[in-house]
Amino acid sequence: MPAPVLLWFRRDLRLSDHPALSAAVATGRPVVPVYILDGEAPDARPLGGAARWWLHGSLGALARDLEALGSRLVLRRGPVTAVLADVARETGADTVLWTRMAGTDETALADALKAQGLTPRRFGGALLYEPETVVNRQGQPFRVFTPFWKHLQTLDPPPRPQPAPDHLPAHDAWPESDALGDWGLLPTRPDWAGGLRATWVPGEEAGRAVLEGFLDGPASGYAEGRNALGRDATSGLSPYLRFGEVGPRTIWHAVRDRPHDPGAESFLREVGWREFCHHLLHQHPAMHEVPLQGAFAQFPWRDDPEGLRAWEQGRTGYPVVDAALRQLWHTGWMHNRARMIVGSFLVKDLLVDWRAGERWFWDTLVDACPANNPCSWQWVAGCGADAAPYFRVFNPVLQGEKFDADGRYVRRWVPELAGLPDRVLHKPWEASGAVLRAAGVRLGETYPAPIVDHKAARTRALAALETIKGQG
Ligand code: FAD
Repeated sequence: MPAPVLLWFRRDLRLSDHPALSAAVATGRPVVPVYILDGEAPDARPLGGAARWWLHGSLGALARDLEALGSRLVLRRGPVTAVLADVARETGADTVLWTRMAGTDETALADALKAQGLTPRRFGGALLYEPETVVNRQGQPFRVFTPFWKHLQTLDPPPRPQPAPDHLPAHDAWPESDALGDWGLLPTRPDWAGGLRATWVPGEEAGRAVLEGFLDGPASGYAEGRNALGRDATSGLSPYLRFGEVGPRTIWHAVRDRPHDPGAESFLREVGWREFCHHLLHQHPAMHEVPLQGAFAQFPWRDDPEGLRAWEQGRTGYPVVDAALRQLWHTGWMHNRARMIVGSFLVKDLLVDWRAGERWFWDTLVDACPANNPCSWQWVAGCGADAAPYFRVFNPVLQGEKFDADGRYVRRWVPELAGLPDRVLHKPWEASGAVLRAAGVRLGETYPAPIVDHKAARTRALAALETIKGQG
């Protein structure tokens, strides 16, 4: 029997649209699929709780899909190079194939594997285009989204996705594997994942169904509906993209193969934002820690553990902010508009460092993404490459009134306010005593009074900004 090749799965937990897997099959040799926990890359952050929950489901689905092809998924944990070298030794493999991931020092990884006597082979597929291939006229990476997206439209379309193989040549003696259940990815004491289970089905097949359901339905209304907090007008694909159960090239071709639809095109543009964030992460692997605009290193953030805690728990006294943070806690997901609103509230109204919010999202989002999360937080905080200007401070009342005009979102996630009429739903402190009584609301008891006065907070935020002007 010829020596097998190792296929190292990372954030690409799928069998179709997977160039590294196709290349492994094309070698004609047995393929040993391996997933390494806590070893996404030598420089990766440990996953947060919600992402670990998702990973459990996703690995289970991948293992089943591999078994249907006559193969298996070998689970190991530990440092990537050492684990791959071990599995290679145990199986006689001499080659490792994998998908490149932005944020990893791929050259260092390949060199470390070579030093172990292994042949490294890296492939694209996690992105539409590899970061080095997308540069402006000066040969530099783009720092602003719109020209980046326009430029992508001038390139050849990304390669067409390949179908999943119908068979994966198995190795005759499988190396040992950890048991998925022993990894403790699911919460037990307490089991806080009930809302996640009720909301999501991880895995490639489920992701494919979500994509098709979206393109056949809500996609055409996406451009108008994507900001409406109370509607399911967006795709819900983010965790599938995060874990690679659906690849961006599959999405690109699924949209472009259909008759032109402006709604679907505007959805594709958002997938372009994902691409942009990943290209930025490729340039700035420490993006979750280091502001891309140097002046922000000096920003006078406030230390406000109580404010941060109230924000995390959805008890700020601003209904749309609280609705969003409770949606996050319950489902592991938050609407994009709501992410911008709560981000602005933390960073500008509370003047708390954006990194604290980024970390909370990292722990609680099922789609917690090493590129999109820090990139978007930096955008909200005004310190990113292509950021909303810092002085643009969202007013949480007006945002609520505009994007949740019928109050459906707040009433769903903050049910103690459900009886309030629309005109005061987003500002219960302006309701008369009689209106509050009729709705069963006692401010400061059944629902918090605002923890900060927005107008004063806005002035404070702008004054803080003045202190770093001209620096960096
Ligand atoms: P759709 O509107 O259907 O968009 C399709 C896909 O495009 C998404 O799944 C996502 O992959 C990508 N996308 C959409 N909007 C953005 C964006 N603004 N930036 C980058 N990619 C985008 N997205 C994550 O995937 N993971 C994160 O950890 C994350 N953290 C965020 C933090 C903040 C503060 C903000 C403001 C945004 C964040 N986003 C993040 C981006 C965006 O909110 C989510 O991708 C989106 O809400 C996911 O829902 P959806 O799949 O229905 O999106």
